[in-house]
Amino acid sequence: MVKPFVPQLIFVEPRAMEYPLGKQLVEKFKGMGIEIKETTSHNQIRNLPGDNHFQKYRKAKSTLVIGVRKTLKFDTSKPSAEYAIPFVTGCMGHCHYCYLQTTMGDKPYIRTYVNVEEIFDQADEYMKERMPEETRFEASCTSDIVGVDHLTHTLKRAIEHFGATEHGRLRFVTKFAHVDHLLDAKHNGRTRFRFSINDHYIIKNFEPGTSRLDERIEAAVKVAEAGYPLGFIIAPIYLHDGWQEGYGEMMEKLESKLPAFAKKDLTFEMIQHRFTKPAKRVIEKNYPMTKLELDESARKWKWGRYGIGKYVYQDDEQEQIKGTLAGYIDNMFPQAKIEYFT
Ligand code: SF4
Repeated sequence: MVKPFVPQLIFVEPRAMEYPLGKQLVEKFKGMGIEIKETTSHNQIRNLPGDNHFQKYRKAKSTLVIGVRKTLKFDTSKPSAEYAIPFVTGCMGHCHYCYLQTTMGDKPYIRTYVNVEEIFDQADEYMKERMPEETRFEASCTSDIVGVDHLTHTLKRAIEHFGATEHGRLRFVTKFAHVDHLLDAKHNGRTRFRFSINDHYIIKNFEPGTSRLDERIEAAVKVAEAGYPLGFIIAPIYLHDGWQEGYGEMMEKLESKLPAFAKKDLTFEMIQHRFTKPAKRVIEKNYPMTKLELDESARKWKWGRYGIGKYVYQDDEQEQIKGTLAGYIDNMFPQAKIEYFT
């Protein structure tokens, strides 16, 4: 069982102390006996002590920076939402294929922003622009926010903020089961709580430092019982020997554990495994022993964002994936909605 994250080292940006949450967090971490340093420069954090890249990378992944979000322009977040809402960047997990390795390459530490009210104000502006349409905000584009939220409760505040709006919707996805503090949040059904799931072989081999499948499902049951709309992202869908059985077992487990009422309003998103050349280089550097197959010649090349080509499965493999997983979903969760396969 993965324990809730406790940072080994904290950095505080001076401006963060101008915000109540900044002060609260510093007091909290002092009380926990964690080493706290002040930083005015990211370089100090980037050059953490360690004999080699491997040690430095691991140290960074257990370092938390308490900072202020300066840019309040939100990125877009298709296809699951209109905007990415920035509360945290980085993650303590060690998934070999994590997208953050390339997007946040030189900043693997976790950074939590304390100017939460300013971020909410900006979100309210975006909502006003789109009224009377709904505006969906995705809170997990740059982190697994649930993994750190037991310490900060920022996500809980966000859930309650959007719960009190008419046109705002919040979404996020997690591989962590530490959800207890979120169960009594006044969500008003306006937050879709999603879990990222995968089969046993994949979680065991490629997702160290995250909650196991059984723990994620147990947390999903609690979340459903707390009345949240629930969803699952099956990602990345990765072909390995016995994948059909592996995913079949995963879906059966889910089917047997979820209460009947939760199955009525359920969404599934399906994302096949993909990689880019830069991602492959970073994965091989950070996880040199990985069993992850990253053979370009076995894959289909596809234009990606920012002009960087990505390697996805061949068309016939994609059809097999869609057919198999959609078949399980239709059989076991006939009322669920498959939002997309990509
Ligand atoms: Fe990356 Fe998500 Fe794994 Fe964290 S839990 S390392 S964000 S894939």
